[in-house]
This record gives sequence, C-alpha cells and structure tokens, in this order.
Amino acid sequence: MKINGDRLWASLMELAKIGATEKGGVKRLALTDLDKQGRDLVVGWAKDAGMSITIDQIGNVFMRRDGTNNTLPPVMTGSHIDTQPTGGKFDGNYGVLAGLEVVRTLNDLKIKTEAPIEVAFWTNEEGSRFVPVMMGSGVFCGAFSLETAYAAKDVDGKTVGDELERIGYKGPQVPGDHPIGAYFETHIEQGPVLEDADKVIGVVPAVMGLSWYDCVVTGMEAHAGPTPMGLRKDALQVSTRIMQEVVAIANRYPPYGRGTVGMVQVFPNSRNVIPGEVKFSIDLRNVNDELLNTMHEEMLAFIDKTRSESGLKISIERVSYYPPCPFHPECVDAVRSATAKLGYSTMDVVSGAGHDAIYAARLAPAGMIFVPCKDGISHNEIEDAKAEHLEAGCNVLLHAMLERARVV
Ligand SMILES: [Zn+2]
Repeated sequence: MKINGDRLWASLMELAKIGATEKGGVKRLALTDLDKQGRDLVVGWAKDAGMSITIDQIGNVFMRRDGTNNTLPPVMTGSHIDTQPTGGKFDGNYGVLAGLEVVRTLNDLKIKTEAPIEVAFWTNEEGSRFVPVMMGSGVFCGAFSLETAYAAKDVDGKTVGDELERIGYKGPQVPGDHPIGAYFETHIEQGPVLEDADKVIGVVPAVMGLSWYDCVVTGMEAHAGPTPMGLRKDALQVSTRIMQEVVAIANRYPPYGRGTVGMVQVFPNSRNVIPGEVKFSIDLRNVNDELLNTMHEEMLAFIDKTRSESGLKISIERVSYYPPCPFHPECVDAVRSATAKLGYSTMDVVSGAGHDAIYAARLAPAGMIFVPCKDGISHNEIEDAKAEHLEAGCNVLLHAMLERARVV
C-alpha cells in the first residue's frame, strides 16, 4: 500500500504559490491574508476528500475522516502552514499535506479504519509575526493561555485575537477540548544529518531541550587611543570569553550538546571607542535534561568567575526553557516498523528544532518522521527536498497511522 507521490508533490507546489517569493520560497506569515488563502485552499481540499472540519478558538484546524468506531480518539497527524518571512515550500506544509495525502490514499483504496483519522494544522508555529512560537499547539496543550495568545502583537500592533477574527478562523471549540489517540508529524529534517549519512527516513526518538538567555556585559566607553590596555573596561573582550565558553560547554557534552551565540549588539559600535556595553543571546541545547542542566550550571559558574576576574558587571537572564521531549516508545516503534516494512534506509535523528509534536506529546503518544532536505537548509527560500523522499516519508506516515488506527 503506497501513497501517490505525484499528487503529494503537486499539492505542495500548489500551496507554495500562495505567498511565493522571487527566489522560489514562500512568505506566508501567520494570520495574514495569504495565510487565510492557504488555509482556505487546504480546507477546501479536505472537504473534497470528504473530511469534516473543526476549528478551535486559537484557529487550529482539525480535518477529520471518520472511522468505524467514532467514540475512539482520532489518530492524528499535522503540522503548520505558516512560514518564515523568507521561508520555504516544505517546512510545516509537508506535514499537513502528507496527512491529506494519507486520507486521499485511504479514499482511493476504500480503506476503512476503526479509529478516525485527523489532519491538523496548528496556528502560528513559526513565531515570526507573533511570539511565542508553536502558539496554536501551545494553547491547545495548556502551555499558555488563550488570553496570552490573543494579546500577542505584531510590529504594527495588530493582535492575534483580532487577526484571527479578521481572517475568519476564530472557531468555536475550546482549545484542547479535542481528544487525540496518537499523534504523528512528518517534517523535513531542517538539518544535514540524513543527507550526510545518505538515509531516507529519520526516526525521531526525541526533540532536544533548549535554554535561552540574554546576557549583558557592562564596561566603560573610552577613547581607543589614549586609554592604555591595562586601564580598560572593555565589555566586548569580556563578552568574547563567555561566547567562547558557550561553544566549549557544548563541546564537552557530545553528541547532542549545542551552544550558540547568534545575536550580538555592541554599544556604541564605533571603530575608535572601547565598547561600553554588549548584549548577546545564548542558546544551549541537549537531548538529556540532566546534561542540559549541567551545561546551564557550568555557564553560570563561568560567568561568576569572569565577573570577579574582570570586575565588570555581567547580568544573565534565562528567557526561555523547553525540556527535552522524548517521544512515545509505541509511536517511535510504529515509525520504525513502518520504515522497515517499506524497506527504506533509516537512522535515528534527534530533532534540534521545535515542532508542534512537542506540545501534542504532552497530551497523547506522539512520534515524528524526518526526511532529508537539501544541504540541511530550512527557514530559507532555497529550502529544497526531493519528491522521492517526501513520498517515502508519507508512506511511512500512512503505515504508522494505520498501525494505530487499525484497518477494518
Ligand atoms: Zn516547521
């Protein structure tokens, strides 16, 4: 039993026309007119496939194919169709359309399942226009409140609540008031591991946890010429010690330790002024919470040491924390055995990026399926994936879902 890869590809290309960019990517930010067009297109396809539609108050959309026993919670798959400002055609969209393709295939083959099948797309996964990221699935699982989400504003001051209303996707269902029997999500890997190892399917045992910080080092601005080296309070030089340590900490906890400084602001940012203040971000990740915590402690200890050695003021604030998310063994096994049955080359890949599946996993057994993307590039207009890989991932999804939903 196989899905129709050409049809999946054609749907992906059709959806990618909405908000298409000149460089071949997609710009379809959450709750814009283009998002509405994308939503309408996908919902229309689902209706054509005989599915019924439920929308909740945060705009999550659930598209349902009934089972023979509709008292059972649905076996769900899904992802998101909003994109980054310079996004690609596949991130999120693939997970939604793969789900739709599963349903179209079941219809073609006239296969009935005991449990219903649902395909979801979650509101504002990307977090680009509105913070926080993974908003729809986050509200759904109770990670934060509907009110918090509604109040989130974009740069123009428009709120999520108003924009949902405007595009007609503020539904009646209370978020979370929607049972899930099991949840699967297919996604492009967004990293280079599968391609590098020449494997087709990534079985995802877990998603890395992350810890984000804002660090501010305060020194003293002074003239770059007259101020001798020994009498400076150079905030940038002290900052670079910490930045080096962020990478060193990650390297001490392989293979999943990650340490990144991605954002730096130097004040006053002038060629002949000793920097007086530096603000920068720190992003630490690991798949094991204990190790992530150790990395956190080591970083704080290093900052204490640097503070006393340098005499500069250093403040550090944790601004985000997501614990690592191990997926459910039964769902991971369902993906693994579907992959084996279909004969695809495979390996385990820990996800370094966040996905809606993390929040779904708080409510139901969940698992993910990765397929390679070109050069591991995502969140970029040049994001690319091979049709044969997308087809393979969708076939794995089909069989994993059927294992849970049971063919009648
Ligand atoms: Zn995504």
